Amino acid sequence: MGTLVKNGTVVSAEGSQRLDVLLDGETIREVAEGISPAGHTVVDATGLLVMPGAIDVHTHLDMPFGGTTSADDYTTGTQAAAVGGTTSVIDFALQNQSSTLNDALTTWLKKSEGKACVDFSLHMAVTNLHGENGVETLREMQEMVNFGITSFKLFMAYPNVLMINDSLMFQVMQKAAELNALCCIHAENGSAIDIVVSQMIAEGKTEPHYHALSRSPKAEAEATHRSIALADMAGCAVYIVHLSNEAALAELKFMQARGARALAETCTQYLVLSIEDQMPGKSWDEAKFVFTPPLREKKNQDPLWDALADGSLSVVSTDHCPFTMDQKALGKGDFRKIPNGGPGIENRLQILWHFGVNAGRITPEKFVSLACTAPARIFGMTQKGVIAPGKDADILLWDPNEDYTISAATQCMATDYSMFEGWKVKGNAKHVFSRGKQVVKDGKFVGEVGHGKFIKRIANAGGLD
Ligand SMILES: [Zn+2]
Repeated sequence: MGTLVKNGTVVSAEGSQRLDVLLDGETIREVAEGISPAGHTVVDATGLLVMPGAIDVHTHLDMPFGGTTSADDYTTGTQAAAVGGTTSVIDFALQNQSSTLNDALTTWLKKSEGKACVDFSLHMAVTNLHGENGVETLREMQEMVNFGITSFKLFMAYPNVLMINDSLMFQVMQKAAELNALCCIHAENGSAIDIVVSQMIAEGKTEPHYHALSRSPKAEAEATHRSIALADMAGCAVYIVHLSNEAALAELKFMQARGARALAETCTQYLVLSIEDQMPGKSWDEAKFVFTPPLREKKNQDPLWDALADGSLSVVSTDHCPFTMDQKALGKGDFRKIPNGGPGIENRLQILWHFGVNAGRITPEKFVSLACTAPARIFGMTQKGVIAPGKDADILLWDPNEDYTISAATQCMATDYSMFEGWKVKGNAKHVFSRGKQVVKDGKFVGEVGHGKFIKRIANAGGLD
């Protein structure tokens, strides 16, 4: 006896078709027309789109930052993910500069232990190399891959905390190439940005607005180019995280055209929010939108949408890193101290559907590619991202006609604000299954804390090998 999702339209990255989907235990048993309901529990998907559970490859749950910790832990964060239609997240484990990758792994596995409501995996951020010529940490990279962590994050921003220099970046890239792993890059020139930041503070420009102005699109473009060029030299596949503007996009496309194995994501916020609309420099309230890279001028949005449509950008993630306004207040009077990050894990699909599909910028198939299938392929999640026999029964039943108003008052995320407060969107997650178990029913969370399991990923050089 299984669960039969009947009368829906199955949407994949390639096409859409009226098909029934039979879930058996934790996996999909059959995808076909007219599967007999005899002996099965039937979920009527009439009028609904049946998609693979979505994957958010960029989240920061329970993450220490600037003297505080992101507001969502693995429980609230993955509940919010589920309600938003996301059944897998990839979070970031961060190496302390004085410590090891294994220590970071232990710390993050502990944060997630028994707490996740949907499946999760980890990227490993390398911030320092230990041993002669880095030998100890480079050896640990092999151990991470063996464990199923096949992507390594490198920060080109945040000097003295997370930032790495070019020699460390190159060494990690060489090792990643050898391991067929993927390097994920936070591409901003942190050294140049820090000079501008201190100049602004010296001029008394301390409000949230100046956080955005201090981090030039050119600093992102420079680092985007440099990291891809170094990866190309090292023979490594690279994935630029949270690409936010047209100048950085031009560098990505330039290097892609030259044959570099370079992929990139953008995030929901860069597609629909802007300096002009959200942080014109009028109030402290704009601290809601202090994240890195910052919001950009509106003129960057269309090129990002175009890049999603033409394939130069492969994924839309969130960089979900939530802080309450109380936490943001740490930076009142000094934007350097505002915890960086915004809440978005719950709203990603609503925003991408409404402003992408409803607006005619992307097709439903492209939506599935950007939110589900490409993330699984790029990050080596072989059981996820497609609806096919034998794959995990992670299923999203999407109602393209539901009208929904986004509000902090009704969200699952732990923040006391929404970046999209009062926005009306059409299209919402109705039912969600995670490995065969229903975790969302009629838009409400019905899952179990602790259901989520660690996803062991394969090393496939971002699907480019
Ligand atoms: Zn991030």
